[in-house]
Amino acid sequence: MTTTVTVLNGVDTIGGNVVAFETQTARVIMDFGINFAPADSQPDDLLSNGILPALPDLFTDIAGDKQTAIFISHLHLDHMGALKYLTKLTPVYMTMESATLYAELIRQGLESAPNAQVQVIAPNKDVQIGDLTVRAFATDHDIMGAVMFEVTDGQHRFVHSGDV
Ligand SMILES: [Zn+2]
Repeated sequence: MTTTVTVLNGVDTIGGNVVAFETQTARVIMDFGINFAPADSQPDDLLSNGILPALPDLFTDIAGDKQTAIFISHLHLDHMGALKYLTKLTPVYMTMESATLYAELIRQGLESAPNAQVQVIAPNKDVQIGDLTVRAFATDHDIMGAVMFEVTDGQHRFVHSGDV
């Protein structure tokens, strides 16, 4: 099996890291941050400016051809700030602690991501996205519920460590 790894953001910045793991039929995206966006920007402007990660099917009307899910390692803004720009309903996995905090930020009007379908991922349990398996492991970071992720395709194992 071939799995393609694409670093989409965060190479030359502190934070904002986004990486995609893709097979023929499945795609998992790990963290979903941006470094800066003016408050009134439209997703297609931010996409063409390179502020949003180069995943056009998630930010426009272009149809995607793979089962897709986003995984958030922890709820620092530079790891989840692009969620609000999603234009299609997309599953977004995060830990219970992150989901609780995110729901509170939305309740207080500080965040809004109508197309993010938040799903809870428990540490040390597998989540299957097509032919990719994702497992979260608790990490030590300065926010509750932080995890790193392991992605396996049956032959290869990849690790997304978040900030750690
Ligand atoms: Zn962090």
